[in-house]
Amino acid sequence: MKKYGCINVSQNNEIMKKIKKTTLKNFGTECILTNNLSREAGIKSNRLRCNKKMQNKHNDIISADYDKNIYFMKCELCGQYSEIETGLFKNRKNTNSVVCTLCNPPNSSKSGQEDNVYQFILSKYDGEILRNKRKYLDNEYELDFYFPEFNLGIEFNGIWWHNEINKPNDYHKKKYEICKKKNIKLIQIWESDWIYKTEIVKNLIMKSLDRNMKIDADLCMIKVLCGDESIKKFLIENDINGFIHSSKKVALYYNGEIVYLMCLNKNNMILRNTTKIGYNIINAEKKIIKYLGLNNYYIIIDRMTDDKKIFQNIGFILEKNIQPKYFYVVGSKLVDSINYRKSILIKEGFNTNKTEHEIMLERGIYRIYDAGHDKLSLKL
Ligand SMILES: [Zn+2]
Repeated sequence: MKKYGCINVSQNNEIMKKIKKTTLKNFGTECILTNNLSREAGIKSNRLRCNKKMQNKHNDIISADYDKNIYFMKCELCGQYSEIETGLFKNRKNTNSVVCTLCNPPNSSKSGQEDNVYQFILSKYDGEILRNKRKYLDNEYELDFYFPEFNLGIEFNGIWWHNEINKPNDYHKKKYEICKKKNIKLIQIWESDWIYKTEIVKNLIMKSLDRNMKIDADLCMIKVLCGDESIKKFLIENDINGFIHSSKKVALYYNGEIVYLMCLNKNNMILRNTTKIGYNIINAEKKIIKYLGLNNYYIIIDRMTDDKKIFQNIGFILEKNIQPKYFYVVGSKLVDSINYRKSILIKEGFNTNKTEHEIMLERGIYRIYDAGHDKLSLKL
């Protein structure tokens, strides 16, 4: 009040002149109160101009209803047609989010969690990160994150939007294969692992971005361990697959603590090759294999997350491909399908004439498929 020297702002001629001038500039009239019609028309024509500009720029828009501010679009990911509010469309394009309201419903947690992954990476890595790019995969598939420095792709798989209802069963396998063809290393992260095994997933990303402490295996002390108890905590804390019973366990120690652990079964199948979070032990596998001195080794590589090259570099060769396997999406978790075998379902009282799949579909519990596995072997 003091500033303008009068009680009512409208009484101040200078200010009124300014308001009239701005109103005239914006709406083509001096008084918006007496000319609501032209105000609306002004806003409308401005919006129409913007919306048309967007439509010309983005070819996923097929048509528009400008009265309702809606675009009709065809999604490049799911191939389906859907409607989207023009404002939301624009916002999603600006934030590099998945635009389609089928793949990315307005209230889904998908983009939120993916953004959390992005925020984490940003806090640790200052190199170039490209989001939601399709050009690296022949415009056929999209990469959630691409890191040119490492030719690395990271996919964040929302477990609802990647289930059998929303994605073909070979979706993750195909993505793995096309990246392999393009020589892009791909890590595919399940949303559930990001939520429940956050530190392990963060470490997986950091290791891939070469942010972990590198130690040569030659600087580590090697030790054969006995009993499962000694390794349980280490595996639960550091391996995405957690603990497993094994017959041989060999650890590398650095500064008095385990930094790497290899577990094998009695057939020399490597069940775990686990590095402590924060570390990258160079030549760990090679050192332990040499130390054990066996004639043959096997390993099954998970195409979603594992680095096959480490083993190929020390002489392992591909023995066979293993087709994608499915889990069930139960709430926010992936549950091994073994828990829903038909024999179990029948014991629980479900219809014996229906297949496991039919029963589960009726229950609204859907399958989700991984990218498959590779069995490698080494003969010495
Ligand atoms: Zn879609």
